[in-house]
Amino acid sequence: MDIKPLPMTHWSGLDRKPLVIAGPCAAETEEQVLETARRMAGANVHYLRAGIWKARTRPGSFEGIGARALPWLRRAGAEFDLKTATEVAQPTHVELALKHGIDLLWIGARTTVNPFSVQELANALRGTDVPVLIKNPTSPDLALWIGAIERVHSAGVGALGVIHRGFSTSGKSSYRNEPMWNIVMELRQTMPKLPIITDPSHITGRRDLIQDISQRAMDFGIDGLMIETHPTPNQAWSDAAQQIMPERLGEILGQLHVRRSGTDDDSANRALAELREAIDQIDRNLLSVLTERLSVIKRIAEWKRAENVTPFQVARWNELLEDRVSLGSLLGLNEEYVKAIYKVIHREAVRQQNWIMDEEEPLDT
Ligand code: PEP
Ligand code: MN
Repeated sequence: MDIKPLPMTHWSGLDRKPLVIAGPCAAETEEQVLETARRMAGANVHYLRAGIWKARTRPGSFEGIGARALPWLRRAGAEFDLKTATEVAQPTHVELALKHGIDLLWIGARTTVNPFSVQELANALRGTDVPVLIKNPTSPDLALWIGAIERVHSAGVGALGVIHRGFSTSGKSSYRNEPMWNIVMELRQTMPKLPIITDPSHITGRRDLIQDISQRAMDFGIDGLMIETHPTPNQAWSDAAQQIMPERLGEILGQLHVRRSGTDDDSANRALAELREAIDQIDRNLLSVLTERLSVIKRIAEWKRAENVTPFQVARWNELLEDRVSLGSLLGLNEEYVKAIYKVIHREAVRQQNWIMDEEEPLDT
């Protein structure tokens, strides 16, 4: 599906990156929401966020104040000149948030995983012009994320974007949710015009790593940040370990190196064009070396067919991999990188050999 979102500047009024959405994980009291907004003044924040309805993993934990907190958000936005944003998970949330003049809605990670829920939200959003951001699903499933984007886009939502909040994994990790930048870059490749906001709070789960992930997002050319901010983070009713004080948010934003997508400097552009020409030449050589390698593989396959020997030889493969990894490390190449390259090369070699071995044997004459 061809996704044509409105440029972010049209709905946010912002002419330079990053767009910043900040505020508490959840609205707890009117005073807390107001104090967050007051202390964020001057920090370059554009939207004040607060969760009103909280999807919690276990029942019995704080599930959000509910609609009663919507006027707090609205008041804090109006007093401190901030637009407002909240999470919606059900059509009634959309209706209530819009009734209270909330400026931006996002769909949470636990909702994006469910196409029925996303479709219900899309139906509720039809005919409105509110900006909507779709968080990635909790699992690293790009198709599921794209499906949710398509559902909301098909409902006529033009002011559309996504939030990258990391993915659950079963392995050990220093993050609450793995950032998996490759998935985000694949989304960018598929939908180049779709604004992407990174949420370092839910990626890291800990406040000391927020600066690092925020900078990483800028290095990847991400369009904005969503950062959980609380006046007394340690006392927060949810996500205490990852929330930061408004003053710390100001520091982090002030220290960001925001990358440009290009430059107008002619001599710098010429230097880059030369380097790119060098890369193009290297790649031409690389492909011709790979072709040469495959032609030897084919001769080996013919030998194996004649001798009736299996294409896959585990001892040879282990030996080859070990040799190339140690050669690579002498040359300064990362072990994982060399392994990954050789796995692809070897898979193709076996595939070609199987194909040659299975060809009709020539009839004996
Ligand atoms: C949130 O933004 O507070 C939230 C619940 O995030 P997520 O949907 O990414 O878990
Ligand atoms: Mn949270």
